[in-house]
Amino acid sequence: MDSWSLAVYLLPLAVITTYYLVRQRRTHVRDLNTMKDTIAAGMTEPASLHPLIDPSKCLGCGACVKACPETSHHDVLGIIDGKAVLIGPTECIGHGACKTACPFDAITLVFGTERRGLDIPVLKPNFESNVPGIFVAGELGGMGLIKNALTQGQQALEAISKAGLKSPGALDVLIIGAGPAGLAASLAAKKMGLGYQTVEQDSLGGAVFQYPRGKLVMTAPVELPLVGKVHFRNTSKEELLKFWTQACNGNGLKIRYQERVESMERKDGTFHIRTSKQQYVAANVLLAIGRRGTPRKLGVPGEELSKVVYRLIDPEQYRGQQVIVVGGGDSALEAAASIAELGDTKVCLSYRGEAFQRAKQRNRQRVEEASAKGQLNVLLNSQIREIRQDEVLLLQAGKELQLRNDTVIVSAGGILPNDFLKSIGIEVETKFGTA
Ligand SMILES: Cc1cc2nc3c(=O)[nH]c(=O)nc-3n(C[C@H](O)[C@H](O)[C@H](O)COP(=O)(O)OP(=O)(O)OC[C@H]3O[C@@H](n4cnc5c(N)ncnc54)[C@H](O)[C@@H]3O)c2cc1C
Ligand code: SF4
Repeated sequence: MDSWSLAVYLLPLAVITTYYLVRQRRTHVRDLNTMKDTIAAGMTEPASLHPLIDPSKCLGCGACVKACPETSHHDVLGIIDGKAVLIGPTECIGHGACKTACPFDAITLVFGTERRGLDIPVLKPNFESNVPGIFVAGELGGMGLIKNALTQGQQALEAISKAGLKSPGALDVLIIGAGPAGLAASLAAKKMGLGYQTVEQDSLGGAVFQYPRGKLVMTAPVELPLVGKVHFRNTSKEELLKFWTQACNGNGLKIRYQERVESMERKDGTFHIRTSKQQYVAANVLLAIGRRGTPRKLGVPGEELSKVVYRLIDPEQYRGQQVIVVGGGDSALEAAASIAELGDTKVCLSYRGEAFQRAKQRNRQRVEEASAKGQLNVLLNSQIREIRQDEVLLLQAGKELQLRNDTVIVSAGGILPNDFLKSIGIEVETKFGTA
């Protein structure tokens, strides 16, 4: 073959190889930067179940990256130096699609990491904990995802009904939490004719209620008591919540909202549960409280006003308003920037620290840009002293500030359920990156 013919054959090969190498290099640089950002912001610990990649088996084919349902709107997995890496650990919600997609069996799904253990309650096969009469369902027990939580909620109620533990004058079961696990448990309790009450510190839907507006929800069909077969696979947060609200209202479920369980003790064979509003006595308790905890409060006068919220669901609802966001982490910066970027709002970001060290670079940049455009007023070294109907009093470097205000969004992190579990004697196993 002469050199001309050889060139004709080799040229397309060279073009394809160059294209592939350039693309691989771009992916590497982008994912490496995301990883660096994640490390700098200290966001390295996944909330629950997540993939552990064995680099000796991984060939960097990227099948896991493509398979992750969150990839369209978050960086969860990436390819660095030809190997898959969890580049956005806090964005991982444990779908497990990566493990199924990997053709080389390089992924194991695990809880916790070497550095930070994750406490998982030790449960019997019927979801009962070491404390007789206290059952656990859903993500708290380690099983995340909507379908799993819905299924476990009803299975746990069936187990409670079978155990037959009753006490005169006491509820058969108090269900704590109205996320998917608590919702399915409430439907099952009603169907079985049990004496039950559900209490929820926030709103129906649990973690689902807190998803951003319009989030694509990936789930699987499931059978629900009193409702029948539910066919959702890919849906939106709003559709799912609408359906669940109809299921609750249509069946007259006994769920009390904005009521937080604060403590519990066992006396004379029953559980005495104190909430933020009242006391209950129950023969059994179902913990369907998830793993995301309770939002941390500021503890200042006026915090009970209805204009104080603990998360941003939809920036649009604050159009035309004067908003104060409190906090220095990613969720605070994201909330402040997204409301400020609407343009017709007056937004103030108040943080007690000197700099936003706990936030990702891209969020810090968004805040800087909004601040430079005059859309956002950043108050470092500041703390809210009092919240009033139309204004907020802040203290900044010893000086008192009085700001007009319509809404306060507190993004000061959450209190995890670990201490609550310990206080009621639930035995846990701490997982350090194991299945
Ligand atoms: C951003 C994000 C996206 C996700 N996307 C998907 C998805 O597409 N598909 C999917 O299948 N899963 C998804 N998940 C996971 C899924 O939402 C959870 O696994 C599921 O909601 C767990 O249900 P649960 O009922 O166990 O807990 P949760 O949904 O967490 O509900 C627990 C409830 O208990 C309440 N509670 C807690 N403590 C108390 C207390 N002391 N007193 C009273 N009430 C209390 C909480 O307010 C909460 O409402 C996602 C999770 C997140 C964070
Ligand atoms: S699918 Fe498996 S082999 Fe391919 S990049 Fe992911 S972990 Fe590596």
